[in-house]
Amino acid sequence: MKPKENPFGLSDDNKRYQTYNYYLRKKFGQKVFKVPLNVDLGCPNRDGTKGTGGCIFCSAKLSGDFAGNPCDDIKTQFDDIKDKMHNKWQDGLYIPYFQAGSNTYAPVETLRDMYYTALSFENVVGLSIATRGDCITEEVADLLGEISKKTYLTVELGLQSIYDKTAKLCNRCHTYAQFLDGFNMLKKRGINICVHIINGLPFETKEMMIKTAKTVGELGIHSIKIHLLHILKGTKLAQMYENNDFQAMSIDDYVDIVCEQLKVLPEEVIIQRVTGDGAKDDLIAPMWSLKKFCVMNEIDKKMARENLWQGMCVDK
Ligand code: SF4
Repeated sequence: MKPKENPFGLSDDNKRYQTYNYYLRKKFGQKVFKVPLNVDLGCPNRDGTKGTGGCIFCSAKLSGDFAGNPCDDIKTQFDDIKDKMHNKWQDGLYIPYFQAGSNTYAPVETLRDMYYTALSFENVVGLSIATRGDCITEEVADLLGEISKKTYLTVELGLQSIYDKTAKLCNRCHTYAQFLDGFNMLKKRGINICVHIINGLPFETKEMMIKTAKTVGELGIHSIKIHLLHILKGTKLAQMYENNDFQAMSIDDYVDIVCEQLKVLPEEVIIQRVTGDGAKDDLIAPMWSLKKFCVMNEIDKKMARENLWQGMCVDK
């Protein structure tokens, strides 16, 4: 492969990949905060519509461990979380983030009300909505298309892996093809799509994880969240781990795989995350993941040491 130049050498956060912070600062000219909300729409993978029990790794809070309190209305949640953020930063712009559960899983008029309510808050410059590919219908996609013409909208689709055998093991209750159906409905309407993948799922090899990132990168996504598999108390995954059915990832393997994934992701894809926040009290393994900044530093160090950068293995 011919040598290329590192396009991230001059980024103001000194990373070798395009961070979300960097992108938002460039786009909006100041700090932008995502405010995680929990509207408790549930999930078809828990209520029997698609499956029961949920994904084997999903926490009791439906993967929204840092989102607001679902007993409060959206405005109260938004204000509470914003106030906590202001203890650290004085002001900024906001993107309400419907995080927990599947946030397109309701009648379209309910969704319309919920999305436009969040958009009406002061200093809001966009909206982020997390859901599953199989919770996108043509009607929902029309609503999202309408909103994306008015604001900076990102729809986050959980995929985790392109491999159906992994999805089956994880009780995702959808296939990669079904994910693509929802993905394409959004894509057709020009909506920004962020895809969520997980490294360390049981029985996946390094090659499989890299292939998932590469395949997703080729879909024309706006951004990606790369997460580490957290083994949380009370999950099916925890039982499997305690039975020694699979091993948790080591930090060295994780850093190595993320660097390889960044190399095969196109340089225009925004990297929203290179690791996740596990709920500390519920985390069983890997405990090293609690040192999130250490993990991020190790990724940066390896990329600098080996002169790697996002997109270096993508043919243009
Ligand atoms: S689809 Fe999302 S919210 Fe539903 S069980 Fe799986 S991880 Fe949890």
